[in-house]
Amino acid sequence: MSGALEDYRAQARAWLADHAAEFGAQARRGLDEAADLALGRRWQRLKADNGYAGIAWSPQYGGAGGTELQAAIFAQEELPFGFPSVYFGISLGQPVPILLKYAPEEVRQRYALPALRGEEIWCQLFSEPAAGSDLAGIRLRAVRDGDGWVLSGQKLWTSWAHLADYGVILARTDPSQPKHKGLTYFWLDMKAPGVTVRPVRLANGGHDVNEVFFDDVRIPDNQRLGAVGQGFGVAMDTLMIERYAAADEAGFGPALSLFVNQALETTINGRPAIEDGRVRRDIATAFRQQRALAAIRTGTFLALAAGAEPGPEGSIHKLVSMRARQQLSAAAMDLMGTAGSILEPDASPQSDWAQSWLTAPTGRIAGGADEMLLNTIAERILGLPQDYRPDKGLPFDQIRPSR
Ligand SMILES: Cc1cc2nc3c(=O)[nH]c(=O)nc-3n(C[C@H](O)[C@H](O)[C@H](O)COP(=O)(O)OP(=O)(O)OC[C@H]3O[C@@H](n4cnc5c(N)ncnc54)[C@H](O)[C@@H]3O)c2cc1C
Repeated sequence: MSGALEDYRAQARAWLADHAAEFGAQARRGLDEAADLALGRRWQRLKADNGYAGIAWSPQYGGAGGTELQAAIFAQEELPFGFPSVYFGISLGQPVPILLKYAPEEVRQRYALPALRGEEIWCQLFSEPAAGSDLAGIRLRAVRDGDGWVLSGQKLWTSWAHLADYGVILARTDPSQPKHKGLTYFWLDMKAPGVTVRPVRLANGGHDVNEVFFDDVRIPDNQRLGAVGQGFGVAMDTLMIERYAAADEAGFGPALSLFVNQALETTINGRPAIEDGRVRRDIATAFRQQRALAAIRTGTFLALAAGAEPGPEGSIHKLVSMRARQQLSAAAMDLMGTAGSILEPDASPQSDWAQSWLTAPTGRIAGGADEMLLNTIAERILGLPQDYRPDKGLPFDQIRPSR
């Protein structure tokens, strides 16, 4: 990697280290969501003021005018500190960038900076009870009504909807069209009359995802992004925008060194666990996987630095790292005996094995379930034939619901 990029990495790391005590994992311990979010808003503001938020965005909208590669490097360096950035990840990752691409200039000027500074939060309302992996299967209706639209239906798994001020939403506007063609994309005020947000409680007690109900919610036509019936394309654009997200070889779980420490501190039959063959095999397996993923990532970074677009290799990274994190977390919990199953509610999945293990299954679903990643790898990396798509071309209202 070039000297300039290495300098950028070193500067970012030093700047992050300077703020670790005030905003990092230690400072967040014991905070409830409201206090943690308040700290997060301060942290986001500080990043924006120092050119570390919206790194690849144009300065016209408050960004730093840098590159996607710098953004990826910063995200990689930021991760181990455990800063409260999580509330803004979706907002700045997809909805606001798609607004910058499709909305008129006055809308961009109004909404970009407050989002960048963490003052306003956006959510992404795509998934529904019967439409997740198959995004084109959504049923939430938007019906024309004078100069606007009326939305009715339900969304599910909406991250941070309970905190969100605004959201981007995909709706079905013409059920007589084949499923990819009758969709339209809008943005809306999450506090509008008729929007109800209910938390979904996750296995670790967390409630960062929600179900959202729309009961005749009126939105004006000027909150449409893209043409009527072209919503699927805008949704694909939204998902592509995220580029090469901060990949982490540990699958956003605890570092392998924590497992090694655990094995050094624990005994099995009176001997240090690190001498046990199965424990050594677990360490070797995780080490091998993480080195291989790091090699793929380095290759991607070099390709990006040379001007290439990110390819499907991110699918390998997510598939392998999340599965490996789940296995290593289970092994660490076994090693800890009964202490391994004590759940500290506010512990981070990056430093606590039980939290990591409990949150790994949702990590394997969100942003592409394992099977979908395997499909991507099969079709786009290995060049195998496309998955069977029996409803291709059929009008949506003639497709039998799968559930
Ligand atoms: C923590 C979390 C946060 C999320 N945040 C958001 C959010 O902010 N906004 C949002 O819109 N959505 C969000 N989601 C939803 C997420 O995108 C979906 O859960 C995901 O796309 C899977 O869809 P599904 O739950 O409907 O499962 P399904 O699509 O019903 O899949 C069920 C199973 O079948 C498999 N499967 C489905 N189709 C195929 C196929 N063709 N071939 C092989 N296997 C297949 C899947 O891989 C999976 O194992 C979030 C989910 C989670 C868990």
